[in-house]
Amino acid sequence: MERVSFSRRGTLRKIYLAQNPTWRHPLVGYVLCPFIVAIGIIFTLFLQKALGGVRFSGSFLILSILFTALFWGTGPALIALVLGTILLDYYFVPPIGHVLSGSWQDTAQLIPFVIAGLTIALITAQRERARLRALGTEQELQAYAEELEVANHKLEEANQTKDQFLSIASHELKTPITSIRGYTQLTIRRLTKQKDLSPEMEDVSATLQKINDQTSRLTSLIDELMDVSSIRAGKLELRKQKCDLRDICREVVKDQRLLSGRTITVNMPEKAIMIQVDQHRIEQVFANLISNAIKYSPDEQPIEVILQQYDGTTTVRVKDFGQGIPKDEQERIFETFYRTPDAQTSSKRGLGLGLAIVKDIVERHNGRIWCESTPGQGSTFFVEL
Ligand code: ADP
Repeated sequence: MERVSFSRRGTLRKIYLAQNPTWRHPLVGYVLCPFIVAIGIIFTLFLQKALGGVRFSGSFLILSILFTALFWGTGPALIALVLGTILLDYYFVPPIGHVLSGSWQDTAQLIPFVIAGLTIALITAQRERARLRALGTEQELQAYAEELEVANHKLEEANQTKDQFLSIASHELKTPITSIRGYTQLTIRRLTKQKDLSPEMEDVSATLQKINDQTSRLTSLIDELMDVSSIRAGKLELRKQKCDLRDICREVVKDQRLLSGRTITVNMPEKAIMIQVDQHRIEQVFANLISNAIKYSPDEQPIEVILQQYDGTTTVRVKDFGQGIPKDEQERIFETFYRTPDAQTSSKRGLGLGLAIVKDIVERHNGRIWCESTPGQGSTFFVEL
């Protein structure tokens, strides 16, 4: 409160008073305190008469000050103290019936009463200060909360604009890339059919192959962006049908072996694993986990894919013997655009979207996905359906 300006203190005081009922306004206290002090002195005089003398004549007056302070604050309490002192002097300090006309020794008898009254007024003033301080903090917090809400609103709008941009940009990019890929593949096929290609045309064919590889990479990046914007917009639809999970796994493993030339071992039950899933999306889950295992482990290491069914739950495990993922990053890798610092500094490219999409697909199938990993020994991704 020290640094709070005078006008701010005034405003806080007004708010504080407005929060109290009208009868507790200090003005009411100023009006009532003479009556309360009068009641105090009447009780004291009554006791004096009934008992033939009171030892602590100021007790009831102290109670009057306490009562006034409790309900109306410091100002009325100080007035009660002044009135109480005058009445005590009048009724109990010789010469009785006069104010401030006794010897200093007689008047000094009032000192304990005045000190007690001042202590009550001081404690009340501190309580009021503390209440005003708390009110000030509450007001500041409220202002911060409002600011945060506005900032949050703006962030949400910016996020929506970003999602819209992602969606439009990826859709717009997809069409020309698809036609570039189509024409490139067509030309490659035509060139492959021709016998005895000149060295020049061999070069052209190799270049076209590179264009095809890069455009297919670009296509999968655009697909990931489109998936993410559909997920954010809640538009990722699933077309579920009953299928054998082993068939999906076999297909994906076959493709990944062809694409990478890596050793991928598969372990699955002999009995069909029939479940109701969106075949295309579950293929995407397998493909993503296996291609990550390939990408983030050395070429000479195998990848293990294990399918198990137990008690109505199907578990898929994709295990690699790569660099692994530190414990504190094992949850974050499922966030959109998150890549581990190791991945960011490596030559392995990616947008950090694959696992976020996979997680969404798995969860939409009421499943769950997690990762267990020991850095330096490899990682295992688990999918439970
Ligand atoms: P991307 O591979 O495109 O970066 P993902 O969403 O597929 O995006 O993966 C997110 C991050 O998780 C990767 O950048 C990488 O840091 C980490 N990661 C995923 N799979 C593995 C793995 N098998 N081994 C080690 N790190 C992995």
